[in-house]
Amino acid sequence: MSSTVQAVRGMNDILPTDSPVWQFLEDTVRRIAQSYGYSEIRLPVVEKTELFKRSIGEVTDIVEKEMYTFDDRNGDSLTLRPEGTAGCVRACIEHGLLHNQIQRLWYAGPMFRHERPQKGRYRQFHQIGVEAFGLEGPDIDAEMIFMTASLWRALGIGNMQLQINSLGTIESRDEYREDLVAYLRTCESGLDMDSRRRLDSNPLRILDSKNPDMQSIIQAAPQLREYLDESSREHFGGLCELLDSAGTDYVINPGLVRGLDYYGKTVFEWVTSELGAQGTVCAGGRYDGLVSYLGGRTTPAVGFAVGLERLIAMIEVAGTDYPSGGPHVYLVMNGEKANRSGLVLAEEVRRAVPGLRLMSNCGGGSFKSQFRRADRSGAHLALIMGDDELDRGEIGIKWLRGEGGQETIPQNQLGVRLRELLSELIGLHR
Ligand code: ATP
Ligand code: MG
Repeated sequence: MSSTVQAVRGMNDILPTDSPVWQFLEDTVRRIAQSYGYSEIRLPVVEKTELFKRSIGEVTDIVEKEMYTFDDRNGDSLTLRPEGTAGCVRACIEHGLLHNQIQRLWYAGPMFRHERPQKGRYRQFHQIGVEAFGLEGPDIDAEMIFMTASLWRALGIGNMQLQINSLGTIESRDEYREDLVAYLRTCESGLDMDSRRRLDSNPLRILDSKNPDMQSIIQAAPQLREYLDESSREHFGGLCELLDSAGTDYVINPGLVRGLDYYGKTVFEWVTSELGAQGTVCAGGRYDGLVSYLGGRTTPAVGFAVGLERLIAMIEVAGTDYPSGGPHVYLVMNGEKANRSGLVLAEEVRRAVPGLRLMSNCGGGSFKSQFRRADRSGAHLALIMGDDELDRGEIGIKWLRGEGGQETIPQNQLGVRLRELLSELIGLHR
């Protein structure tokens, strides 16, 4: 026998037993996004490498070491998308969606980063992204945060902390950067390799270092907050007020930064202590400079991304109830004749009872083995078509689990009876 081929490390199958929680999550995301008036945009998984180099920045973990980049057969350098904002902005510019228009968009799908796989960190993972273009005030920033909070509520998850910060404008950040670099030079011997490299190219990212040895240097660094210009202060104040009036708790984390010039003003993250080292579930902020940076007209923009594997882990921690996805009803049939009529009847019933999930037994088998399959399917109800039922034009209905009880009814009343039972069955499947 030849050896089997396995999946790529860090790229996971989502098996049938896992899909109900994914479907619950996806359905909830769609419902919440729609409830705020956001439209879905679907984007390619592959983009030109240049797009990510320009938008994410050359001196970032993603572009320096995490991208899946390859030459296609024409010799063009392409990259599996490591995140969604770049492609979304590219598409909006390309299709003229940003001219004198407000766009509120969301998307979901797989992202690819060559990182060391561990719990909560994979090479293919999934994000939902939400972006709004054409709005510059703090109201839309607050709306985005409210949307994330609604999502956590709808998913039944708790123990999430909202952290916010303001990055100011490019000008205020330039001034800050100078002072930061001057300070960091005074403690250069204490900097790790990554930070020394970033001292010239992207010093703000040093504040984001996870290296424990770097933390005391970071703590004593000058704080961006002291450098904010008037308009950024006002914007941030406006956001805090909106969060306060909605009763949304937050903490201001001065260490929350993005190193690139087109980010400014609001940044936020939702973090949790439930997931160990991989505690950031959602990251977002304002990127008013990116659209023009990628060749469009200057357009204010704000967005966030949620890591779905981490969100699923949170749903599991919370023990949220979600629909199981399996059939409500399993049809058991005895003998060839019953099999034929049974399959036809099943078709009629599915048409007559929208929302009903009916699995027919295929492949024959004794009553005993068919009931075993019925049980394993997760169905709460068996429909029984044996010789006797067939002759009399009837069908048996038997509760399979704790509920007990059995009845026999004319086949032509099955649709009506199942419609009566449907809401009970749906309830049992939560
Ligand atoms: P981290 O600091 O954990 O590497 P990041 O800053 O690289 O995160 P973003 O690019 O902001 O992450 O992506 C947004 C979210 O996507 C993260 O908060 C996280 O929930 C999720 N995410 C990022 N990388 C991965 C990954 N390799 N596997 C699973 N989820 C991920
Ligand atoms: Mg990362």
